[in-house]
Amino acid sequence: MAQAALRLETNVPGDFFVDSTCIDCDACRIFAPAVFEDVGGMSAVLHQPETDEELLAAQKALISCPTASIGTVAKHDMRGAVASLPEHLDEDVHRCGYTSESSFGAISYYLGEPRILIDSPRFTEPLAKNLPGVRRLLLTHQDDIADHQKFRDRFGCERVLHADDARGRTFEHTPTGSDPIDLGDGIVMIPTPGHTRGHAVFLSRDKYLFTGDHLAWSPARRTLTAFRNTCWYSWDAQTRSMERLLDYAFEWVLPGHGRIHHDSPEAMRQHLERCVEWMKSVR
Ligand code: SF4
Repeated sequence: MAQAALRLETNVPGDFFVDSTCIDCDACRIFAPAVFEDVGGMSAVLHQPETDEELLAAQKALISCPTASIGTVAKHDMRGAVASLPEHLDEDVHRCGYTSESSFGAISYYLGEPRILIDSPRFTEPLAKNLPGVRRLLLTHQDDIADHQKFRDRFGCERVLHADDARGRTFEHTPTGSDPIDLGDGIVMIPTPGHTRGHAVFLSRDKYLFTGDHLAWSPARRTLTAFRNTCWYSWDAQTRSMERLLDYAFEWVLPGHGRIHHDSPEAMRQHLERCVEWMKSVR
């Protein structure tokens, strides 16, 4: 639990606050952007929730914080927020919440119809109870595997991770090579080495692209972007991987870190072309 004694001075007065254990993972700003902001390398509450919608978003951020760094002065009934996760985004696509510190607060997703998790959230009973099942756990890369074993133990799901990131650990399906792999369920696994050697993205129904740490929307630049400072394996490889994504059409970019973007396939392609050109200009 967040501690009032550690409350950051950057918070505005009022009920919700962030304490000094914040690791600046960004998850709260994704779930409740009207409430939380980045102030000097940590999050802070810059606007106390006023509407029911803002209150629910702040509560979802609180229970999704990987380090329990968000607190409230008043005691809250959290049942509504707990029931609202995973959070519906579009069709059967959901955002899980309950981020894990081991994946630095990365966002994971759930496809309701085929009962598929994309990247691992923190395992908690309330989340597990809200999932009607997990047949498969698709992992974009080694950094976002979090509580994969606990989900495997609970649901018996098949775990998929590229062999270059599995590195001898036990997963049920560890594809190799750089060719796209049809996983069934309308999903193609596209290897995208760069952020890590075994990074891959997952394209569902030619519409939803789950991008891990490969690709995200940049609100500041108003286009798609990659993360140069957290490219652990090879920026040149990541640039080539990005260029290969031009072979695919999609309408949604759903990242682990950074912002979601929804657009027409044509507009998405233009953003992707812009991203590739920018990557080539950055060393
Ligand atoms: S979710 Fe928690 S750790 Fe992450 S930025 Fe917000 S307060 Fe900090």
